[in-house]
Amino acid sequence: MRKIFISILLALSIATCTDARMHVPPTVKEIENQYRVFNEQYFDNKLPKDVVIDYSESDDMASTMRMRDGRFHIAFNEKFVAAPRIMNLVLLHEQCHVRTWEEPLKHGPLWRTCMLTLDVTGAFRNEMIDNYEEKL
Ligand SMILES: [Zn+2]
Repeated sequence: MRKIFISILLALSIATCTDARMHVPPTVKEIENQYRVFNEQYFDNKLPKDVVIDYSESDDMASTMRMRDGRFHIAFNEKFVAAPRIMNLVLLHEQCHVRTWEEPLKHGPLWRTCMLTLDVTGAFRNEMIDNYEEKL
């Protein structure tokens, strides 16, 4: 009986600490929506709104490129970003690339400042700590 109780408790704790869709990558539509939310929440809505997002990255977790027409293209690798929490962290990383695109170094001082600003404003805590903004 005790083992059954512990098993049920473990199952419940797993169910409440993980996203049920953990192994289903977010859809492109969901990522685009999250991009909009983060743009408003952390970038004063100053990032371009016409960014192209897809799952065409095959080597790295994600990459950001600028296309000939001037729009940005953020490509994700669904092998690495199936968990929405990871997707959101990688998305914020890529949004800092969009923000600091003119910087010659890939992860130079401007990009780092962007990431540190996200940290100071609580972006990573909000993603990593469940219910971080709720009053307890
Ligand atoms: Zn990067």
